Amino acid sequence: MKKLIILLVFILPVYAWAGGKEVRKMTKNIHWLGHDTFKIVGEKTIYTDPFKLRKKDKADIILITHEHYDHCSPEDVEKIQGPDTVIVATPDCAGKLSGNVKTVKPGDKINISGIDIEAVPSYNTNKPFHPRHNNWVGYIFTVEGQRIYIAGDTDYIPEMKDFKCDIALLPVSGTYVMTAEEAVKAALDIKPKVAIPMHYGSIVGSKKDAEKFADALKGKIEVIILKEEG
Ligand SMILES: [Zn+2]
Repeated sequence: MKKLIILLVFILPVYAWAGGKEVRKMTKNIHWLGHDTFKIVGEKTIYTDPFKLRKKDKADIILITHEHYDHCSPEDVEKIQGPDTVIVATPDCAGKLSGNVKTVKPGDKINISGIDIEAVPSYNTNKPFHPRHNNWVGYIFTVEGQRIYIAGDTDYIPEMKDFKCDIALLPVSGTYVMTAEEAVKAALDIKPKVAIPMHYGSIVGSKKDAEKFADALKGKIEVIILKEEG
């Protein structure tokens, strides 16, 4: 019994803290370049939905969630695409791109250059812009042992309960995607160690949406509002 108490009181919190530390370390390698564009640096350099990039770079992997122009942007892909870059995209977006492009649908699991990537459902439930039958996706991928989820343009959907991730990148702007309030529900279902709001400040939504999201999750889930980088 005493051993159990020692385990519960001393060892488990240290274990949780160490786990949290790893996640926090990873968040420092997640750079928000606006909208749904992230540069994530780990074993590989991964970009998500490159849009309005201000700098040229070299991506190892580019993940694209669907073919809307603010997610699937051939001119932005070109800025970070080298001969060895692998792009993972939905078929309707892949048709606009060239190079090494792998297509996915929800439920697919692939490994690209040692990075595990799962395509998960991403769709609207209370608006028409991203119908479920389009088979557009979000991604859960593992970098430095941390599972990172980028949601794409989605509403709060029942599948989220089954998503397992350490860091969740969630849209909060409303209009085409979840509102901040709906994103709070999503975060509570997904239970990431850290949630990072996105999809604001560019086409729709503002930092206020991100702050609303963070305030509502205070004491429940750690929210990091990233500063937009160039
Ligand atoms: Zn869209």
